[in-house]
Amino acid sequence: MKLAVIGHPIKQSKSPFMHTIWLGELGISGSYEAKDILPEALAGEVKALVKGGYDGWNVTIPHKEAIIPLLDEVDEQAAVLGAVNTVIVKDGRLIGKNTDGTGFMKSLLLKRTAVDIAGSRVCIIGAGGAAKGIAGALVPYQPKSLSIANRTVSKGERLLNSLIINGEKSALTMDEAEAQLDEFDIVINTTSVGMVPDTDQTPINMTRVKKNSLAADIIYNPLQTAFLKQASEGGADTLNGVGMFVYQGATAFEEWTGEKPDAEKMIKRISESIGGT
Ligand code: NAP
Repeated sequence: MKLAVIGHPIKQSKSPFMHTIWLGELGISGSYEAKDILPEALAGEVKALVKGGYDGWNVTIPHKEAIIPLLDEVDEQAAVLGAVNTVIVKDGRLIGKNTDGTGFMKSLLLKRTAVDIAGSRVCIIGAGGAAKGIAGALVPYQPKSLSIANRTVSKGERLLNSLIINGEKSALTMDEAEAQLDEFDIVINTTSVGMVPDTDQTPINMTRVKKNSLAADIIYNPLQTAFLKQASEGGADTLNGVGMFVYQGATAFEEWTGEKPDAEKMIKRISESIGGT
């Protein structure tokens, strides 16, 4: 089995570490490499991957959208999002999928049940690619209300308008989200604010978070972002981005190999490998 992740830059990716361990654990002979591909080289490099006999690859920044015209097929989730993070080569055809949203939901379900989510007022901070995947994956759970706070409010509005949510929906500014914090049961940071090296930053101040609510950050480096630290100090339960990363990878791995890797063990391993940084 020949697998890879393509992106630029790619050095920081934990995907080769994770998938190589899974191939070994499941006794599948093969490899998973990181390939640094510049935007202008994408089309040629995708042809080279097919020629080189690759069975599939993950796609990360900046190629998640640009790869779509190079594929033969994209599934519904990826088409709605306009972003692909997994490519499967099947009978010479390139099939694109997006496993980010379902990866986040599997991670969220470690902390909250489907019934809890249905009874929750949820606020997503951010309206970029990851937010779209997460918002779409939340729809089947029908939260009591859904707010999207974004620096560019019109993007939040557009995303909300594309979702069928029976409860209340509201597009907020960051200041409005901060002022309404005590109303939310689940707050999810999907922005890149707080990621290394800017680890002291938060998209909103979380100190007035509702007690016993859940604050989730999809960033996983550092493991505890300033957003999660403030929320924890304010009395909220927290969830970092390692679970989402591992489950989006596990779903891709299953698509390629037909085998289910041990995601829970991998969450521990990745957390240990990132450590306190
Ligand atoms: P994206 O499409 O570029 O979206 C970025 C979002 O962050 C937008 O909502 C943007 O607001 C907001 N933002 C960026 N800088 C900001 C700032 N200084 N202040 C306020 N808001 C800011 O990126 P993405 O693909 O959604 O990825 C977002 C983050 O999620 C990244 O850190 C990525 O590493 C992480 N991620 C993690 C996983 C995982 O498996 N754990 C998976 C996917 C992504 P505007 O709309 O106003 O520009």
